[in-house]
Amino acid sequence: MATYIFGHTTPDSDSIVGAISLSYLKNRIGEDTIPTRQGEINPETAFILDRFGFEQPKLKIYYTGENVYLIDFMESSQSPSDIGEATILGIVDHHKLGDLKTATPLEMWVRPVGCSNTIVKQMFDYYDVDIPKELAGMMMCAILSDTVIFKSPTCTKEDTKACKELAQIAEIEDYKALGMEMFIVKSDVLNDTKRALVLRDFKDFNMGQEKIGVGQLEVVDLSVFDKMKEELFKAMREIKEEENRHTVLLLLTDIMQEGSQLLVVSDENQKIESAFDITLTDSQIWLPKVMSRKKQVIPFLEKSFN
Ligand code: MG
Ligand code: MG
Ligand code: MG
Repeated sequence: MATYIFGHTTPDSDSIVGAISLSYLKNRIGEDTIPTRQGEINPETAFILDRFGFEQPKLKIYYTGENVYLIDFMESSQSPSDIGEATILGIVDHHKLGDLKTATPLEMWVRPVGCSNTIVKQMFDYYDVDIPKELAGMMMCAILSDTVIFKSPTCTKEDTKACKELAQIAEIEDYKALGMEMFIVKSDVLNDTKRALVLRDFKDFNMGQEKIGVGQLEVVDLSVFDKMKEELFKAMREIKEEENRHTVLLLLTDIMQEGSQLLVVSDENQKIESAFDITLTDSQIWLPKVMSRKKQVIPFLEKSFN
């Protein structure tokens, strides 16, 4: 029976590439695994797959009775709805400890680095398995994406080291230029509905009794959003109502200015204000230096809600 490997709901490049890279490694060391995905891929991931000649992993939503590895997440709110009926053989991740439970012992590769693919690279080294050139190129792109070309406060020396070694294997000299090309693709926000934009990189978290959704869009120039703010707020309000969320936040991150415009739709705006020690104007505020949801946003919300 094959084991499935997949990343979080609303998959990003790290989740998709990580499923492929971890599956390749597992297969090389004698396990039978298949990479899958829980949702549609985003434009940046499509660009990476196309660039290095890989197919999308197969879409698979339900895992009852299956053996699975999780990559790039360990929260029930980002899992398949029937995760409780699957056997989790292992987790490879770089997020905070989640709320999933297992009935059997499992393999855990969890490290506070900027990208799951950095950990997968370390696993390749540990098992002494060569990484094919094209796969190395994709893993390199996943690291550049998650670390925002090394600018994110989540980026560690281990990420830059892994990225440089992968660039060498992939024979890509100017990897930062490729990273920039990727972020320009990612910055295309004009060809999607506002709802799709809010949901493009969206994660739910259970905090206290409440469900909090946080979306993020990373672009090279924030002015693309100037004329669509009201429509984004409208989409956020709809998404909030649909699943009875307490709060929906959207981070519009400018990777050149290195900060984020925070948009807030919440039952209790003051709870968000106290979490970040800010005063919202028209339900929004510019947060200088804030680029990471996992490191600069979620911990403060957790404190405020738990
Ligand atoms: Mg991710
Ligand atoms: Mg990641
Ligand atoms: Mg990210």
